[in-house]
Parts: sequence; structure tokens; C-alpha cells
Amino acid sequence: MTCDLLLHVCCAPDATVPWPALSEEGYSVSGYFYSSNIHPRSEFEKRVRDVRGLAGVMGGKCIIAPYEPMNWLRAVRADILGPEGGARCTRCIREQLLATAGEAVARGIGSISTTLTISPHKDISVIDRVGREICGDLGLQWVFRAWRKKGGFRLSVERSTRMDFYRQNYCGCVMSIRNERSE
Ligand code: SF4
Repeated sequence: MTCDLLLHVCCAPDATVPWPALSEEGYSVSGYFYSSNIHPRSEFEKRVRDVRGLAGVMGGKCIIAPYEPMNWLRAVRADILGPEGGARCTRCIREQLLATAGEAVARGIGSISTTLTISPHKDISVIDRVGREICGDLGLQWVFRAWRKKGGFRLSVERSTRMDFYRQNYCGCVMSIRNERSE
């Protein structure tokens, strides 16, 4: 028996491990690409191209959330100037997971998960706490997996290289451009 799950996708490379793994667990996975945190628009366009490509490879559907940077800015502006990994990122993660959860509820999908935990730069305990709170409030199942563990991040790099996906060198928002690195 399959169970529907909406997978929050932050970018195609990071989804190359979670999407097939959740499918193997028995979930019927659809993707949800949240992108309003991404700056500039040309960067969003590069990322959305490969998200569509990955959905094609997975034989699944990926919902592309509307690109609304002003809405994202409103959600994080109270902490906009803080360092990466701080309160701005917690607000951003909340906004992304809230959007995913809202979409799941609207579509009658009972579970959500996220690709964010594959990044070695993210605090996965914050992601888990925020996801748990949101799903608890909305009556959804929170499917938490620490994707970066057991070589998950390295595998995502190998797979995305093999699939010829664009790999960004910053997290996404305008503030993170100054912290260029390998995501
Ligand atoms: S650095 Fe990444 S997680 Fe943090 S606010 Fe920017 S886009 Fe969001």
C-alpha cells in the first residue's frame, strides 16, 4: 500500500537522495519546490529547470510554488540582518515548510518531508523542530530523515554530477550570496 507524501524540494541536487529513498520506503512522492527565498530570478530559473528535470527522471510530479520574493521577505524581515544559520534561517525554514504543509492540506496529502537536511550547513535539529510544530498544528505526519548522514550528502553530489544538474554555491537568498560555498 502506498502513502502520499509531499516532499519539500529546495533544489534538484539536494532531492536526488531523498526522493528515491522515500519512494523505496513505499511513499507515493510528489515534490514541492519552494523558491521565493531565491535571489535573483535568473538563479530561480536555473534551479527550477533542474527540479523539473528531476521530477521527469523520478516519474513523479513536482508542484512549482509561485515565485514571490516579497512574501518571503515579509516572513524573514525581522531577522534579515542576522548571520546565516541564525534566526533568519529559522524563519526561512518555517516559511518553506509552512508553504509545503499548506499545499499538502489543500491537496489532501497526509505527510510531508524535506530535502533541507541533506545540507551539511543546516541545523537539522531546527528543521526537525519546526517541521514537527507545523505538522502537529495541521494534523500532518512529519517524516523526518537526516539525509546527510551515512554519506547522503556525498551521494547527492555524485548523483547530481552524473545527472548534469546545476549546483549552486550559495544557499539561495540575497544575504547568503556573500557566503559562497559548495551547497
Ligand atoms: S541562508 Fe538559506 S536558509 Fe538562510 S535565510 Fe537565506 S535562503 Fe533561507
